[in-house]
Amino acid sequence: MYKGELVIEDIVDLNSLEATDTIKCPYCGKGKIYVYSATGMVSNPCGVCGRIALWDFDHHTAYKANIRKFAS
Ligand SMILES: [Zn+2]
Repeated sequence: MYKGELVIEDIVDLNSLEATDTIKCPYCGKGKIYVYSATGMVSNPCGVCGRIALWDFDHHTAYKANIRKFAS
């Protein structure tokens, strides 16, 4: 849970965090995300090819996915 005031000048040094896993893009295999003790899933575009994937942290994999439609 985030608490406190957002300090936008701050930049997180990812090298200071220990990655618990890495997952490769299911499309291009080049994009890679680092996992830091995260669980569950998130939909996010690949940083290399930009296509939407469903990243599954619990099963250390990612799936090709369709973009979600906006609900009214
Ligand atoms: Zn990709």
